[in-house]
Amino acid sequence: MSVRNYTGFVKRCQICNNPELTEILSLGHQPIVQHYLTKQELFSPESAYPLTLVQCGRCGLVQLNYIIEPSKVFPADYPYRTGMTNMLIKNFQELAETTARLGFLKKGDLIVDIGSNDGTLLQAFKEKGMRVLGVEPTNAAKVANARGIKTLQQFFSANSVKTILKKYGPARIITATNVFAHINDAASLVKNIKALMDDESVFISESQYLMDIIEKLEFDTIYHEHLRIYSLKPIRHLFEMYNLSLVDAERISAAGGSIRVYARKGKYPMSTRVKKLMAAEKKAGLHDEKTLMLFAQKTYRAKNDLLALLLKCKKSGGRIVGLTSSARSNTLLGFSHIDNTLLDYLCEKKGSPKIGLYTPGTHIPVVDEAVLFKEQPEYALVLSWHIGEELIKIMRSRGYKGKFILPLPVAKVVS
Ligand SMILES: [Zn+2]
Repeated sequence: MSVRNYTGFVKRCQICNNPELTEILSLGHQPIVQHYLTKQELFSPESAYPLTLVQCGRCGLVQLNYIIEPSKVFPADYPYRTGMTNMLIKNFQELAETTARLGFLKKGDLIVDIGSNDGTLLQAFKEKGMRVLGVEPTNAAKVANARGIKTLQQFFSANSVKTILKKYGPARIITATNVFAHINDAASLVKNIKALMDDESVFISESQYLMDIIEKLEFDTIYHEHLRIYSLKPIRHLFEMYNLSLVDAERISAAGGSIRVYARKGKYPMSTRVKKLMAAEKKAGLHDEKTLMLFAQKTYRAKNDLLALLLKCKKSGGRIVGLTSSARSNTLLGFSHIDNTLLDYLCEKKGSPKIGLYTPGTHIPVVDEAVLFKEQPEYALVLSWHIGEELIKIMRSRGYKGKFILPLPVAKVVS
């Protein structure tokens, strides 16, 4: 199969090249979720792109059918920093622990992290005495280098592999956490990863899991960064196309529910854990059109119910603000038509680079959360609802007196 480095409308399955793709869910045209606007930019035209999920009838992959040019989605000034998300720091420490427990790591082994952001995961490996190297296209690479985590600032490519092999040799572990679904050419990605491996190497990836997205109705995790929503069936298909074996997998809580998979070069048996998870996918009908269409219907209903609840709260004279502002909250806001006429502002922790900017498409100002404690608006919409319980406790303990609105899976006001 030829190497495809495409952008624009996707006519064939991103994994198996099958032209028969079935439309599952359309979230309309949406802007790039991390493209926050300055006040000045509010006076300029803004681009929006189709955001539609389709499914491949052959390998089962659920995927977007429109791919935006990567340099637009991940510009150098991309605002996300892994080190700001406590849950991810914990997850990465746990991943480093788990990997160390597997027993095949020696001090000085090379760990390469693809899409390493600010080096949070590699820091955990470095502390265990490994050599670490990151590959990261955005300015987060500068942050990593400044804290002593050697990072190449570039998109991961055949050239990165050449550089790494020449200077450092093959990697014992290659990680791709929350990035394996982001790189537009799945075939080249796997080829490049394989080129960095020797017979001992293990590739570990973490991606949001289709099972979690469907079970919890997390349609807000759909945005242009996530080109493929993985499940084990298509991942296995992808690995086997390049003679890699899916050897192990586990469900983890990162990013609202993810799947962590382990792969090796050559032929190896699947662990009992993978076999069980694959059986569970089958039992849940995860790749059946019927299941996916039901998910779409639930999504459309949830969106309308949320909007109706917010309009009711607004009509009663209440001010509504949002907690917090993220990629996923921008999908929820944009798709649900919740804009600056409904929400006064979104709150972010002090120091967030989004403060002072406006959300893409919906143009809601992002402010320091201190404003919320001072103004005490009647309602706070918990946009980070996947960590809602924890967030509500924190905001309450810090003095917010209003009501919380949970947007999903069923929109409701909680006092
Ligand atoms: Zn396919």
